[in-house]
Amino acid sequence: MYKIQGYYEAATLEEALALLAANPNLTIIAGGTDVLIKIHHGQMEKAELLGIGKIKSLQGVRQLDDGTIVIGPLTTFTQIANDPVIQEHIPILAEAALTMGGPQIRNVATIGGNLCNGATSADSAPTLFVLEAKLKLQSNQGGRVVPIQDFYLGPGKVDLRPGELLTQIILSPENFRGYGGHYIKFSMRKAMDIATLGVAVICKVKEGNIMEDARIGLGVAGPTPRRCPEAEAFARGKAVAPETIAAIGRLAVKATQARTSWRASKEYREHLVEELTQRALKAAIVKAGGEAIA
Ligand SMILES: Cc1cc2nc3c(=O)[nH]c(=O)nc-3n(C[C@H](O)[C@H](O)[C@H](O)COP(=O)(O)OP(=O)(O)OC[C@H]3O[C@@H](n4cnc5c(N)ncnc54)[C@H](O)[C@@H]3O)c2cc1C
Repeated sequence: MYKIQGYYEAATLEEALALLAANPNLTIIAGGTDVLIKIHHGQMEKAELLGIGKIKSLQGVRQLDDGTIVIGPLTTFTQIANDPVIQEHIPILAEAALTMGGPQIRNVATIGGNLCNGATSADSAPTLFVLEAKLKLQSNQGGRVVPIQDFYLGPGKVDLRPGELLTQIILSPENFRGYGGHYIKFSMRKAMDIATLGVAVICKVKEGNIMEDARIGLGVAGPTPRRCPEAEAFARGKAVAPETIAAIGRLAVKATQARTSWRASKEYREHLVEELTQRALKAAIVKAGGEAIA
């Protein structure tokens, strides 16, 4: 049973923002793959929903003249995976999108809903963290742009103020040009399972084996997705070598605040961080044009 008190549907962004301003208690619904589950499980008593799924200006991916990529929050995971701009410039995001759910879920679940849900397991988050995505949030009072790292406030909690909608995910070219990237989702089943751990690594390589920059993003390694600043600082400027990669894996564990859950113990998650960071980094180095190491 779905206990829904009311349902409104906006055709334009302006209409949605006006409805939200008039009733900030409305729950936004995009694909509904998180919201409807919560309602079904009785976690949202008397929900009043605002459907935004038909707002054209919030859909799709476009690239601006300066190279910036703007992703509409209503873009589904299937669309992300198949989008030519994403495939050409940030294939790691297409890879991550394909690890999410199954085809039916990917056809309706949106990237905006994935972020606004605030889950540390969101499969788009580690990649968007390493790409240093900026999020545009709009209300009928105006807009603001927030770095993705500041958007996550705690488990299931994001920096969305009453009356605000996520309207754009913005990726600047300096954060993806020249980088190779790789995402690994570790889960107990190959499909239709939430990540036990997600690791995204992007890397820029010069002279074949010097890591000019390496960025590591983790999901489910703490209450929110996170970067690994110590490991990244250590990697910068180092030559690619097995012992360096191993040290980066060990340092990545320092950024974690893993906990024991029914899916995995804290110790197992830390082991996964150490191992999968190395594997993702090795793959990212090769995709960035660097030397393969065993
Ligand atoms: C069977 C199943 C498998 C799943 N597998 C995965 C998986 O493998 N990986 C994974 O990461 N997730 C998974 N999920 C979770 C879910 O599908 C994703 O989080 C999805 O991206 C949510 O998008 P949505 O459009 O359905 O969000 P909705 O349910 O519509 O909304 C989610 C939240 O975001 C808010 N919201 C949505 N859009 C906006 C916006 N533009 N501005 C402000 N707030 C907004 C809503 O109010 C709500 O709080 C799965 C879910 C199911 C049911």
